[in-house]
Amino acid sequence: MSTPSKPIVWGTPSTWMPLVTDWLRPRLTDAAVHRLRGEDTSGLYADDPEWMEMLESEIRTDIFDVEEPFADELERMVVRCFHGCRTEDAGHYLIHGIRAHRRDELEARLRAMIAEDERLRWMAPTLSERMAEFPSATDEHRSYVVLDDRFMLEHAAHYLIYGSEWIAAVLGRSWRHPLLERGVPTMIEVDLPLSWVTLGMRKALSRLLLSEWTRQTVDKPAHVYQRSFTFILDRDLPPEIVAGHYHPETMKDPWDGRAVYRSPRTVCEHCGNNDGRG
Ligand SMILES: [Zn+2]
Repeated sequence: MSTPSKPIVWGTPSTWMPLVTDWLRPRLTDAAVHRLRGEDTSGLYADDPEWMEMLESEIRTDIFDVEEPFADELERMVVRCFHGCRTEDAGHYLIHGIRAHRRDELEARLRAMIAEDERLRWMAPTLSERMAEFPSATDEHRSYVVLDDRFMLEHAAHYLIYGSEWIAAVLGRSWRHPLLERGVPTMIEVDLPLSWVTLGMRKALSRLLLSEWTRQTVDKPAHVYQRSFTFILDRDLPPEIVAGHYHPETMKDPWDGRAVYRSPRTVCEHCGNNDGRG
């Protein structure tokens, strides 16, 4: 299998179904696809473990002889991921990349915001105590990107609506509304080399692609299902892997009963000045 020049895009099966088919072909029993398509799959969930069991029954060797080697194969590939944020200028990410969580930088940003905003200034004397209530040690120097932007817009869009989760938490429910007046909800697109993630994450992705390959092959659903899947990296993500960005018009606010949030703007300084995506 040659290294593809284009990234694997989970929501676009044409970017990965042929890769999986090529990989599986010498490992499947004769007429496997024909038999799989004859299975009764009514009642199976999209993420049902049964899909993997069906595939396993048609593999010439143990399924673990497929999952792990395919995870190794993925190491040479690139996957499209997404980072949700709220920014005035997505061009900043194209120049600087995505910085890992740094508590000191977030504290400085929050202090500056409180100093500038007279509605929040009352918080300044007790800010250190408020911040101490929200330790973020496990996030320190970590970057998070997700496999499925659709899932993020449905279930985790607070990153786009409020920006930093930690800043919004410190401000609290009653005082986070000023965050809605800054920046534009933005999805940064990242083409992540899978050699940068742990073997455990590659194995999880391997299982996911093999399982969904089976469902796509047998049931031919109209869409790949929306999937919660996060890559955690102990590093900054450099600008070379930032592929672009877009501004969704609507998303659901998980902090407001998943009410539909309509973005006030869908153009940032970068795309407003560059006449399109980038
Ligand atoms: Zn933009």
